Amino acid sequence: MSNFACIFSNKLNTKMEIENNSVDKTAGKAKNFIYELIDKDYESNRWNGNVHTRFPPEPNGYLHIGHAKSICLNYGIARDYNGKFNLRFDDTNPEKEEQEYVDSIIEDVRWLGANFDDRILYASDYFEQMYKWAVELIKKGLAYVCDLNGDQIRETRGTLTESGKESPFRNRSVEENLDLFERMRKGEFENGSKTLRAKIDMASPNFNMRDPIMYRIVHAEHHRQGNNWCIYPTYDWAHGNEDSIEGITHSICTLEFENHRPLYDWFLDSLGVYHPQQIEFARLNLTFTVMSKRKLLQLVKENYVDGWDDPRMPTISGYRRRGYTPESMRNFAEIIGVAKRDALTDISLLEFAIRDDLNKHAKRAMAVLNPLKVVITNYEIEEELEAVNNPEDAEAGTRKVPFTKEIFIEESDFMENPPKGYHRLVPGGEVRLRYAYIIKCEEVIKNDEGKVIELRCSYDPETKSGSGTSTKKVKGVIHWVSAKQAINAEVRLYDRLFTVENPGTDDDWLSKINPNSLQIINDAKIEPSLKNSKPLDKFQFERLGYFSVDTKYTTAEKLVFNRTVTLKDSWGKQNK
Ligand code: ATP
Ligand code: MG
Repeated sequence: MSNFACIFSNKLNTKMEIENNSVDKTAGKAKNFIYELIDKDYESNRWNGNVHTRFPPEPNGYLHIGHAKSICLNYGIARDYNGKFNLRFDDTNPEKEEQEYVDSIIEDVRWLGANFDDRILYASDYFEQMYKWAVELIKKGLAYVCDLNGDQIRETRGTLTESGKESPFRNRSVEENLDLFERMRKGEFENGSKTLRAKIDMASPNFNMRDPIMYRIVHAEHHRQGNNWCIYPTYDWAHGNEDSIEGITHSICTLEFENHRPLYDWFLDSLGVYHPQQIEFARLNLTFTVMSKRKLLQLVKENYVDGWDDPRMPTISGYRRRGYTPESMRNFAEIIGVAKRDALTDISLLEFAIRDDLNKHAKRAMAVLNPLKVVITNYEIEEELEAVNNPEDAEAGTRKVPFTKEIFIEESDFMENPPKGYHRLVPGGEVRLRYAYIIKCEEVIKNDEGKVIELRCSYDPETKSGSGTSTKKVKGVIHWVSAKQAINAEVRLYDRLFTVENPGTDDDWLSKINPNSLQIINDAKIEPSLKNSKPLDKFQFERLGYFSVDTKYTTAEKLVFNRTVTLKDSWGKQNK
């Protein structure tokens, strides 16, 4: 069974269908319906051979893995068609937006490897143009100033079966609208006292076409515009304008905007300006993960996690801190593909992608998380033994690890009363120490409470790895660290942040937080070659998983490691 097939067979029981798009690679491009559509545009020369996409985040939070999917898709299209890709901030909502978010988004998009050249663009830079276009729509009799407040507008919108009611202000003269709209801009009116609305059709079966709001009055300081503006465009009005101004060809967004497309088209057609094509795709949902920015913000603000880049967060910065690589995230985006139907993606696919990447690139090392002291009574010398850095990569070479009379092994690698099939160390039993010798447990030392605190072992000098003359074979091979040279380190083990598969759909989602999602080990023992490791250096600790040096808590005195991912999909197994 291939690795992929193996992953898919680990599907969890879920009501939603789990995404399983096969990747059909043609000329290096994953063919999905968007590529097919762009191919057709190419053939018909619809955009004069141009392809120009954008990623348009609102700077009201940090980016998450769903955004990564959108970035990979949009940037990947621009790359594959020799087109362009813009990073554009949809900064139209001053109350929720902050420079901190802008900075983090730029860092994350760069880190993912999406190339936007110098095109970091801001919707707020287009406010003047948008205002002029709004005036044009007023002049064409297609927009009006409405004095209904938010509640009244909602109440008069109608229902699925009933048309909405026309606003009593709908038929104001063009002159009056122009005057009021100008005064709205000047700041003469209070928040919420007036809006500019498009004059479309209060009986439209599509709610979005029932005289949607184009501008709201918000007296708030904008993180880039300061107090230049007190009217702010709505998403629907602003988004098509932004795309048009930038000469975007394909405006790719998530499915919830499908019903907004007629409005996107209506605005641009009414203005008679350059008109990109909006295309919708299914957003990414991951098992055991919440993805809504509102919920992620709550996790941060209410200290359920340790900031936006907590390694348990599904944010790009969280994954980066945990040890994920940009390649693994791009590969993940490729594996899951792009669909037209909403689905829930098994998080083990993401874990597969990072494991696969780190297996190829991470250096191996030995670390003992729960140390048990072993004294090798008949070993009196000190040696430097040769250890392989990465069996997947011949060029990674070897390193020396010190071997001495006293070593640490993992507590769980010794059992006094082992169950059947236990192949590690037992009283009187033998085990091989990785890269070293076969040892035999001669004596078990316990403290007053009966806890095993030390083992006395003998070693067989003829069993040295690589050069021993003995033909002795043992079933178990365990890792170890020489006590004398060991470095103390902190190791952080992570589990899923939620205990249920689809926490996002649960009203009581906060109660589904996994209380054991973080386990901190203060006194792990690490082999000395890791001494000068830098934040984000990545290793496979043999038999324990992939680990990355933490960026937040590592100091000159203390190394802190985050476990990026285990070696195997233990959850998949548990679910079998
Ligand atoms: P909100 O609008 O509630 O703040 P959002 O997640 O839509 O949240 P945006 O900053 O507007 O945030 O998103 C930027 C882009 O990322 C949009 O084009 C959006 O469609 C896309 N996107 C957001 N969430 C996902 C997701 N889960 N999967 C794929 N794309 C997503
Ligand atoms: Mg959005």
